[in-house]
Amino acid sequence: MIPLFPKHTGADTTIFSVMSALAQQYNAINLSQGFPDYPIEEDLGNLLYEASRKGFNQYAPMAGLPILQEAIATHTARSTGITFGSPNITITPGASYGIYTALATILQAGEEVIILEPAYDSYIPAIEMNGGIPVPVALNSPTFTINWALLEESITLKTKAIIVNTPHNPTGMVWQQSDWDRLTKLIAERNIYVLSDEVYEQVIFDGLPHCSVLSQPALQDRCFAIYSFGKAFHNTGWKVGYVVANEALTKAFRRVHQFLAFSVNTPAQYAIATYMQQFPLNNSGILLAQKRNLFNELMGDLPFTLPQVAKGSYFQVADYSAISPLPDTEFAAWLTKEVGVATIPISAFYKNGSDAKLIRFCFAKKEETLRAAIERMKAHLIG
Ligand code: PMP
Ligand code: GLN
Repeated sequence: MIPLFPKHTGADTTIFSVMSALAQQYNAINLSQGFPDYPIEEDLGNLLYEASRKGFNQYAPMAGLPILQEAIATHTARSTGITFGSPNITITPGASYGIYTALATILQAGEEVIILEPAYDSYIPAIEMNGGIPVPVALNSPTFTINWALLEESITLKTKAIIVNTPHNPTGMVWQQSDWDRLTKLIAERNIYVLSDEVYEQVIFDGLPHCSVLSQPALQDRCFAIYSFGKAFHNTGWKVGYVVANEALTKAFRRVHQFLAFSVNTPAQYAIATYMQQFPLNNSGILLAQKRNLFNELMGDLPFTLPQVAKGSYFQVADYSAISPLPDTEFAAWLTKEVGVATIPISAFYKNGSDAKLIRFCFAKKEETLRAAIERMKAHLIG
């Protein structure tokens, strides 16, 4: 065989694929991979059909359908108070692609990118595939707050970017204005970009505001904000997202994008845009907060502890050290096979596999799914 060299140090198969496959194999309730098991809004589904019937079946413009860019501009103006237009908004086939392409836009070989761990699993491979070097900085444990001293120490002359994720997968933590103020001060005199993964911007609870990088005037010339419709519209399989940046950065981003995906699924863009016009207020935060509340209340009957209550996202992290001494990957496999509930081991979100006996539950599921999972765990873990 002709030699093949690995392009990245990430997993051969992502933990989400591994755990979902294991769940299927063992007929376990799948609280691992982050996707809803309830249907999308009927109106949204109908609009997809309408789009195809109306002839939205050929290539969309490279930067996105203008009606979707307009709907996003309206939404972003409402959520950040800042006006962005079509020169700032590029529709992408999902957020992972947006992150990859932003990295491809800015990175030269050997430049470093800081990530805050636990970190979403695509960041390291995306950095490496673009010739960069990931520099992991661990969040404080068990508060999942930022270790500012460690972050500062990790900055070198080669640091080209930092990836922020708020609300955060897997911990459910959110950035506050004071966090942005500190970061802004830290990088003010340095040429460091900020990639802000805000895919859960609307899935935020307890009346907390979403603090976007787009609301940070001092970062306007150096940030890419990355979004996915999959989370707020419960349609992760549509794989439609977008990236917002200033005009110069957007131009550079599109120079790469036009030779990667070029454009994105036209009928889905039409459906999402029309749906946003018809229903400007998204209720995913309310819906998911109810699910988090129910799940965490039911978890109170089990010997897990919750290091933090999720403030946003689809996920709740739980500590199982009172149940088992197993490493987290083994515990998650055991829970899937023997108890019938699939979760994600948190070590998968660390470059060095750091294991603090934590697993991640996805609560973006029907009430009956959450109740059934808790019942299975009660039957095995209590008494
Ligand atoms: N970032 C985070 C934090 C995520 O949780 C996900 C996946 N849910 C993504 C990016 C990728 O989103 P998409 O499916 O739109 O590529
Ligand atoms: N973002 C989803 C999660 O965190 C998974 C997406 C994927 O399977 N790549 O579970």
